[in-house]
Amino acid sequence: MKQPKYPLKWQKDNFSIKVFCSIPNIATGILLKAGDNYLVVDPGDGILRDLNNEIGTNQILSISDLFITHGHHDHVGGVWSFLTYLRVMNKRTPLSIHYPKGCVEIESIYHAFKKVYSSSISYSIHLKEIGVPKSFKTKNVTVKPFPVIHNELLSDGKTTRQVPALGFKFTYVRTKICYGGDTAYCKELVRHAKNSDLAVLEAGQDEDSPNKMHMTMNEAKSIGASAKDYFLVHVPD
Ligand SMILES: [Zn+2]
Repeated sequence: MKQPKYPLKWQKDNFSIKVFCSIPNIATGILLKAGDNYLVVDPGDGILRDLNNEIGTNQILSISDLFITHGHHDHVGGVWSFLTYLRVMNKRTPLSIHYPKGCVEIESIYHAFKKVYSSSISYSIHLKEIGVPKSFKTKNVTVKPFPVIHNELLSDGKTTRQVPALGFKFTYVRTKICYGGDTAYCKELVRHAKNSDLAVLEAGQDEDSPNKMHMTMNEAKSIGASAKDYFLVHVPD
């Protein structure tokens, strides 16, 4: 399959999404705009460059919420630089970071950041661990987290373990965008993607070897067909 051309863009009414990049083991970076508010999802490596190109410093400073689907480096690699940039540019409004319970990567980055810059952080950071996934509202967007199934390989290259991982469904007015993060085919994603205005679905797995880490192209397409529109992301070269 030909690599999709980033950034992927979609808009309905006043709700838009840009996926700057989503390549397995490299980076992911997603910007949502709901009315006048910006939200960032899975800030992987390169997110500061992409946000600066797209919306500039003042709008970056206005970002109120980061959403993390899971702790793999291609989804959180930009968090440290993002937090540090906000400090250097003197952000004054709070930032909430929503992440799955047990995601030690986010907690570790946060605690290291607080330790290094304890006396010079200009803004407050609220860690919002998501245990039981239930809907909440932030600014003008309703967010429904849902559990997904995402495994990783251990160092022997064979054994796998499940990592804490979520998908998110974002609703602004009546427009719904569902993002599954990294996930194997699972019923929660099937349920939440159905009838969404846009589903953003990973397709990182070879067709011949389905597993509990990623979806194959055909699995992702079958879920995408139940939404009104969809993107496939996280597609290997
Ligand atoms: Zn992953």
